[in-house]
Amino acid sequence: MPEGDTLFRTAVALRRWLVGEVVTAARTRVPGLAVARLVGRRIEAVEARGKHLLIRFEDGPVLHTHMRMTGSWHVYRQGDRWRRPERQARLVIEAGDHVAVCFNAPVIELLAPQAERVHPSLGRLGPDVLAEPLDLDGILLRARTRPAETALGELLLDQQVLAGIGNIYRSEALYVCGHNPWTSHSQLADEELVKLVECAASLMRANLPHVVARDVGRHGEGRSVYRRAGRPCRRCGAAIRARALGEQARIAYWCPTCQPSGQASG
Ligand SMILES: [Zn+2]
Repeated sequence: MPEGDTLFRTAVALRRWLVGEVVTAARTRVPGLAVARLVGRRIEAVEARGKHLLIRFEDGPVLHTHMRMTGSWHVYRQGDRWRRPERQARLVIEAGDHVAVCFNAPVIELLAPQAERVHPSLGRLGPDVLAEPLDLDGILLRARTRPAETALGELLLDQQVLAGIGNIYRSEALYVCGHNPWTSHSQLADEELVKLVECAASLMRANLPHVVARDVGRHGEGRSVYRRAGRPCRRCGAAIRARALGEQARIAYWCPTCQPSGQASG
């Protein structure tokens, strides 16, 4: 499952090999996607914004991909063997002596630059959690527009409040800060909320040097709570709990002792 840090690393790799190169070939399985117009254009920039990846081309077009749970970008040297089957490739871009392949991404679209600002998800995206400096004022402002009862566990996944945090880091950051996932944001002072966001950002940054995304094992190796339901808390020994939270019903993981709350005793 790609989180902001995975996509950030992807952007670094794509940027390194593609920016400044001219597209020599482009093909896609996405119906109606006019990738032929990219051929002959120079690649100007690659940006990760939350879980969205944007590739900017000379004279305007912007390729927007969103990975959701299934997608990934790989970059290979021409002639290298791909790590996934060709039939899963939804978009292939050749430039210089490299090939960029987008596998299984549910969202692939070409935007005119002016369309980006009014795009239903890009236009309203909150500040990126990996941006430096981190726009804490902007994040706080957006967070406080949410209903008072909105749970912290939901708030951290709300891409319009801040972009890039997925389930791993929302669970881990809440654990580190000792907040129950069901605690509402209105119960936290501004400083506490800022601290929580900074904590998530620093956990994600700490994971950045690994060029290849590390999968979390089935038993959450290397994590404190994520995917460790039923296993002992590394601090207090209590059994880690797991329960679906919020509209998206993503599973939240927490320690009932280290992250207590009257609202989440179940
Ligand atoms: Zn504990």
